[in-house]
Amino acid sequence: MKMVSSQNKSVYIHIPFCDTICSYCDFCKFLKNDEWIDKYLDSLEKEIKSKYKNEILNTIYIGGGTPSCLNVNQLTKLFNIIKILNKNKECEFAFECNIENITKNKLKLLYENGVNRLSIGIQTFNEKYLNFLNRKHTKEEIVDKINVCKEIGFKNINIDLIYGLPNQTLDELNSDIEEFLKLNITHISTYSLIIEPNTKLYIDNIKNIDDNLDYEMYKHICNKLKDNGYNHYEISNFSALGYESRHNLTYWNNDNYYGFGLGASGYIDNIRYDNTRNINKYLNGEYIKESHKLDLNETIENEFILGLRKIKGINKEIFKNKYNKDIKEMDIVNKLIKENKLLEDEKNIYINKDYIYVSNDILVEFID
Ligand code: SF4
Repeated sequence: MKMVSSQNKSVYIHIPFCDTICSYCDFCKFLKNDEWIDKYLDSLEKEIKSKYKNEILNTIYIGGGTPSCLNVNQLTKLFNIIKILNKNKECEFAFECNIENITKNKLKLLYENGVNRLSIGIQTFNEKYLNFLNRKHTKEEIVDKINVCKEIGFKNINIDLIYGLPNQTLDELNSDIEEFLKLNITHISTYSLIIEPNTKLYIDNIKNIDDNLDYEMYKHICNKLKDNGYNHYEISNFSALGYESRHNLTYWNNDNYYGFGLGASGYIDNIRYDNTRNINKYLNGEYIKESHKLDLNETIENEFILGLRKIKGINKEIFKNKYNKDIKEMDIVNKLIKENKLLEDEKNIYINKDYIYVSNDILVEFID
């Protein structure tokens, strides 16, 4: 069976430094340290030069950590490194920011260097929960900084909204959504709080909220954002028309991307790899921790697990072109259609919206 590899390529770059550590965070991150940042950027440049084969890129995403905690000189150094990358004319170039460390000067620098999408970690407007999460911004700062982003020229702005906080009520969530809507931005990513091991919340023995309330909150978010003109295009993501995250669609379309930086993951030419999370190894040029070449079954498994996260699901023709196989030849697809968990229209196969909240239970059925 022939498998056609995708031509689309993207780049993710991880900047693992933060000004403060949030109580729920289990990402790959460290408290900011200027000496390490300089060495890190040198190592990042070497890694990119050793792996990147000059492909033309559809998207670049600088994430973290908190990339916006770098100072202007460090950001200038980062953008000089990024000049190695060959962007196409329409390239989506996204940059993650935190409210407390974006300044007019930094935002101008980002804009002048071609960044055209900001992803801003706001999480909540509620000061009680901002404290609980150890986020350092205030409600007023959120509004002021978003206005500065818009003044400078950024049109494509994502904000993160967290819900399912201990003791949070539906009314509190609703007030948060109202505040988010007033910002009038193009994209909202939502996350239900998960208490991960190795976080302060876990150590403090904080528990997740009741599943039924979590489900009510998810439904409320979906309905409220839809009523306000946002398109629910992925389980947890909502956008104004035409402002879907093209970078994240690379993942969900099971397309190719490089992951550069500490703890980053990549998927290139059928190989999935994870970089080391050990900063000393990374600075010594030992970038990759593990890699694995996928066989056809694993690639198709990923196509379903990732592709069915999209509300539109998987396009039948694209599937056929990629794998030279009819999607309906798959027993598991027919079984799930019979159970009414998957639906199909002329073009796509997708999860029945009544099952979106429990989509993980459906996706695991694709794992051998
Ligand atoms: S959530 Fe983001 S800002 Fe907070 S510690 Fe983690 S990476 Fe840093």
